[in-house]
Amino acid sequence: MGKVYDVAVIGTGSVGSAAGYYAAKEGLAVLELDSHRPPHEQGSHHGQTRIIRYAYGEGEKYLPLLLEAKKLWADLQEQSGQDIFHQVGVVNVGPKGADFIENVAHTADKFDLNVQFLEGQEINDAFPNLHFNDDYRAVYEKDAGYLHSEVAIETYLRLAEKLGVDQDFSSAVSSINYREDGLVVITNSQTTYLAKEVILTTGSWVKKLVPTLPITVKRKVFAWFKIDDQRLTEQRGFPAFTIEIAGDATYYGFPGENGDIKIGKHDGGQVITEPAERTTYGSYPEDKEEIKPLLAQYLTGTAGLDFGAACTYDVSPDEDFIIDQLPGHPQVKLVTGLSGHGFKFASFLGKVLADQVAGKDVFLDLKPFSLNRFQ
Ligand SMILES: Cc1cc2nc3c(=O)[nH]c(=O)nc-3n(C[C@H](O)[C@H](O)[C@H](O)COP(=O)(O)OP(=O)(O)OC[C@H]3O[C@@H](n4cnc5c(N)ncnc54)[C@H](O)[C@@H]3O)c2cc1C
Repeated sequence: MGKVYDVAVIGTGSVGSAAGYYAAKEGLAVLELDSHRPPHEQGSHHGQTRIIRYAYGEGEKYLPLLLEAKKLWADLQEQSGQDIFHQVGVVNVGPKGADFIENVAHTADKFDLNVQFLEGQEINDAFPNLHFNDDYRAVYEKDAGYLHSEVAIETYLRLAEKLGVDQDFSSAVSSINYREDGLVVITNSQTTYLAKEVILTTGSWVKKLVPTLPITVKRKVFAWFKIDDQRLTEQRGFPAFTIEIAGDATYYGFPGENGDIKIGKHDGGQVITEPAERTTYGSYPEDKEEIKPLLAQYLTGTAGLDFGAACTYDVSPDEDFIIDQLPGHPQVKLVTGLSGHGFKFASFLGKVLADQVAGKDVFLDLKPFSLNRFQ
């Protein structure tokens, strides 16, 4: 024991790695804890890339957070010299009148984002590998793109270490206990630590430490398909995308690189309760089936499956984020329930948690993300 940290960050993946760095920049004595050194394949951040888009179908309440996150990613890239953000554009396609695409268009209008509205054949003319009829509309956002998620996490952790942050990535935290003097006792299989405050960002497995949180864990897969049309590549201007097919599902994907294009399906997946249940890609028959409807009709230029991977979503009841303190323990700040769309916000979420611990005012409205909306 001995040293008392100002803050212990438990779970230093996407959000936690950012939180630890920004807390250290505030001059706090920071401890970073994780069961494996991130980036790794046990959490929700692997597979190299994550889409960042600002015209946001999930709701306009996310816009102010997104615009802050965007600035912080740019700062991280500039400061570190690492290859973090690729502005390849994002095209969102959906059936006219469907909630998601209409929300994308509404947010773009309301916040005066730099977008292009397309319909039916105009979508196919702009992106010859896409095939939609007049029942579909698209919003193309040139300023959006993707983030190198694993590079970003590695960068935050390295910069934190340089700022003197202590890091223990030897084993999972097994318990958090609260002393009467207000200090928090954190134990993993090797050591017990003391901290004044805790940032709890353990992603999908948060219920192992706080069983009462309203989080469902879903096994999700994504896959890389070989490309036989170079127009699907980043070099040839193919964008990242979200595509909702009427009566089917929502897919997302990235421009091709190194001969492959990465595609996933946002809906579906299997509810699991233990990490061991996140079995490898292909262990469910539907893993290799789920992208087929998209490739059969709406997106051409691929030449068969190359390989796939399994990941997890931490899903809240309304699929909106939870950004709050732990009820009864205000010294524990937490972010969870990122519901499969959280990476793009990780820079901002980490900064907010660090600011809260540092006692700084947070000027954005985080009430829509509080836990008490579920009571
Ligand atoms: C297939 C897939 C595609 C996605 N695509 C996108 C996208 O395009 N755009 C987007 O914005 N978002 C996307 N997301 C969502 C995004 O990746 C996640 O919301 C985000 O990475 C979650 O961040 P996190 O910090 O909560 O979790 P993680 O990054 O998983 O970090 C949690 C960390 O906590 C650690 N941990 C867990 N339990 C313990 C413990 N007991 N003790 C110590 N450490 C512990 C883990 O080891 C891990 O390092 C996608 C997710 C998946 C799975």
